[in-house]
Amino acid sequence: MTKTAPTAADTRPWRDPNAKPFVRIRNVTKQFGDVIAVDEVSLDIYHSELFCLLGGSGSGKSTLLRMLAGFEAPTEGTIEIDGVDMTGVPPYARPVNMMFQSYALFPHMNVEQNIAYGLKRDGLPSAEIRDRVAELLTLVKLQDYGKRRPNQLSGGQRQRVALARSLAKRPKLLLLDEPLGALDKKLREETQFELVKIQETLGITFIVVTHDQEEAMSLATRIGVMNYGEIAMVGEPADVYEFPNSRFVAGFIGSVNMFEGTVTENEADHIRIRSEELGADIHVGHGVDCAPDQTLWYAIRPEKISLHRERPDGDANIVRGYVEDIAYLGDTSVYQVLLDSGRRIRVTKANSLRGDPDAIRWDEYVWATWGSESGSVLTS
Ligand code: ADP
Ligand code: MG
Repeated sequence: MTKTAPTAADTRPWRDPNAKPFVRIRNVTKQFGDVIAVDEVSLDIYHSELFCLLGGSGSGKSTLLRMLAGFEAPTEGTIEIDGVDMTGVPPYARPVNMMFQSYALFPHMNVEQNIAYGLKRDGLPSAEIRDRVAELLTLVKLQDYGKRRPNQLSGGQRQRVALARSLAKRPKLLLLDEPLGALDKKLREETQFELVKIQETLGITFIVVTHDQEEAMSLATRIGVMNYGEIAMVGEPADVYEFPNSRFVAGFIGSVNMFEGTVTENEADHIRIRSEELGADIHVGHGVDCAPDQTLWYAIRPEKISLHRERPDGDANIVRGYVEDIAYLGDTSVYQVLLDSGRRIRVTKANSLRGDPDAIRWDEYVWATWGSESGSVLTS
């Protein structure tokens, strides 16, 4: 008997073909002179998502975000937010706010005044402003810091003030451009969790731009991977990691071993790939849309490979190598293995035993092996 989790469909509207997107980006292109910053992007983002735009520097993330905010107009294409076409709608008239990478807090104002600034300018009654500021201070856990100036706060606290300020007008959509960029690694990780909690509490749609794939993986409901202005793939973090759709995505997210090969068996329930680079055959336990003799690529993550001193049984997915180097990272060790073919692979192993006397060491010959469902077959 198979069971599916009853809540899964409710919390993942993108899996429901009838769900109505909150943000609808249709064939949007942005050109600056000769530079195509954003190239025919179409993307649907749903209410209450924490959607991450992930890509390297210059891939068009900020430009796409700025078009959503209304700071740039698309050269072509349309953007709809909450059912309304945003063409010609100025930034202040959109149900949107943007939090910039440089938090740009007003240095001469205290925390409360910084958060209240936009509300005051809009002429909200002061009692209402006071209530809303108090509510936001609680949300970002800065109740006791309201009277401090920005220069009396840590980087993480300033980041939270900026977040509170960007939420003050209760936007339906919050755009965050590298929101954690200025924080050190440890603080970033803590703040990521807080950001997710705040987003879940409010139920506001967040679109976060980041170049940091770990950050995208831990924050996002879904990730849109950008490359040269195009969306290379959209998916839930586990889909993007485990089932990348191209060599670019496989290589961009996490670490991967990639081998070129040729299809030698092409059946409905499996394929076999001959790879000179690997020096072995690869057995893939499902059908793949490919032609006999087609050249393609096999991508396998370092943690999906295991190392053994004795040759395991089988005629595929087994390859001999020599342990050249081991990087001990505490929780895991990374093995660099030189295969007989001359290629190097990366294999990671969780250090679940303390001081394991049996662990494979350098200068050992080993057999590397993996399951027939462990890697991805890529045709582009
Ligand atoms: P990302 O945020 O992913 O680093 P951007 O969206 O900032 O990338 O930039 C994408 C491309 O568009 C880059 O090549 C950048 O130089 C170019 N670009 C961005 N804004 C402008 C602008 N105002 N004028 C000219 N070129 C721009
Ligand atoms: Mg940017």
